[in-house]
Amino acid sequence: MKEILQDYSREDLSALIESLGEKKFRAEQIFLGLMQGKKISELPVSPALREKLLERFEDEPVRIYKTFTAADGTKKFLFLLSDGNLIEGVLMKYKYGNTQCVSTQVGCRMGCKFCASTLGGLVRNLTAGEILSEILVVNRMEGGTLKDRAVTNVVLMGSGEPFDNYENVVKFLKNLTAEGGINISARNVSLSTCGLVPQMKSFGNEGIPLNLTVSLHAVTDDERRRTMPVANKYKISEILDACSDYFKKTGRRYIFEYSLISGENADEAHAEALTKLLKGRPCHVNLIRLNEVKERNLSSVSEKEAYRFLGVLEKNGISATLRRSMGSDIGGACGQLRAKHLGDVKHED
Ligand code: SAH
Repeated sequence: MKEILQDYSREDLSALIESLGEKKFRAEQIFLGLMQGKKISELPVSPALREKLLERFEDEPVRIYKTFTAADGTKKFLFLLSDGNLIEGVLMKYKYGNTQCVSTQVGCRMGCKFCASTLGGLVRNLTAGEILSEILVVNRMEGGTLKDRAVTNVVLMGSGEPFDNYENVVKFLKNLTAEGGINISARNVSLSTCGLVPQMKSFGNEGIPLNLTVSLHAVTDDERRRTMPVANKYKISEILDACSDYFKKTGRRYIFEYSLISGENADEAHAEALTKLLKGRPCHVNLIRLNEVKERNLSSVSEKEAYRFLGVLEKNGISATLRRSMGSDIGGACGQLRAKHLGDVKHED
């Protein structure tokens, strides 16, 4: 694979273009073109410079290979990477704007028992520029510009564990939120982690005040270990401390994801235990009914059971919502994204 030009920040790009003996304003033109989701071969530069860039950099690191549209308007994108790997992304349309769910790795090595993204293990990390390009190409495809964006919110909840690809993800977030580019405010970005405590702590020092979201899914360490191998490494108490630390540093309240799994974590006793864990904390709970994944024999709760669980949290004064599952008919809902959806495209073509 060649290098990825979208990995460069505006400043790095400026230095690069100058080092190639070009005028500074060229760098700005290139930066703007890239942020508009253009390929290198579409940039408004001289043929000689284009050649130079194409020798060293991928023309189109992330290409929209297929689009699926769900009954509720949610779109799932299948992206083709330069090395033939495929990743998925989802665009959900809400009244307040459009939220794109991005992947941070091809596959995942966390091994959560309910999740499809981890079935084939980790294939590789995405670079900062590849993650950013997922958004740039969708914004362009949907008719968005840099002033009037078609993607207004971003959630790092696609395949992969963002904090298992820490450096690239932080670089991506800095470029995503930087002025002059696509410039999506950190307040409109949510990062979901399965709870890698050291990285959660470091992240508080990066100066990116986003919505930190933790996949909890259990109320005791023993129960959490049954579905999330990462629980063998970090205790719930350590995760809660890391959340408090993030709140102290950023002033941002944090969010817990809690997928309701029948016979596992979803009865009223669990709702009471969850209350005990979280009472008094500046946090919010997102409940989701498990999306069933055919390779996993875990089943979801009924809508009624989910509302009963929510009712207990509300009665106890815990801020909580039951999330609508969007795009499940196209395999685009939480936990349904997979690394090798259609196998390796190169063999198909
Ligand atoms: N690795 C990160 C990002 C994944 S985000 C993390 O673990 O947080 C996707 C969210 O969907 C996580 O909360 C994840 O635990 C949850 N999830 C995974 N599979 C699911 C499924 N089958 N049904 C409902 N939620 C699921």
